[in-house]
Amino acid sequence: MKHQQPSLGVVLRRSWKKHCPRCGKGALFRSWFKLRECCSVCGLAIQPRPGDTWGFWIIGDRIFVAVPMIALYLGFTPVEWFPRLFFLGVVVALFFFTMPMRLGICVGLDYLARRRWKV
Ligand SMILES: [Zn+2]
Repeated sequence: MKHQQPSLGVVLRRSWKKHCPRCGKGALFRSWFKLRECCSVCGLAIQPRPGDTWGFWIIGDRIFVAVPMIALYLGFTPVEWFPRLFFLGVVVALFFFTMPMRLGICVGLDYLARRRWKV
């Protein structure tokens, strides 16, 4: 089955929504954080070589840690204990709840890299 090549924006949007980066219809995950072997609609191998997404994953995590550090550096330093706790809670909650979406983005970027370099 011939598929149209989706653009970078389309791939990132589909991946963020936890859908297949190629067709946009099949689900990427079996459970909260467990990837499927392949897309149930178009048959794309989601992660043919599991180590290939680590580079994107490490960069994505570092950016997530860097944003609160930059906010602190730029002067966002709550003085009272409750705003500090709230800030920490928001960062931890965002880190946890966006994990599947960030992993989806890593899979999408890996898909684009494989497509670009025909790996
Ligand atoms: Zn698909």
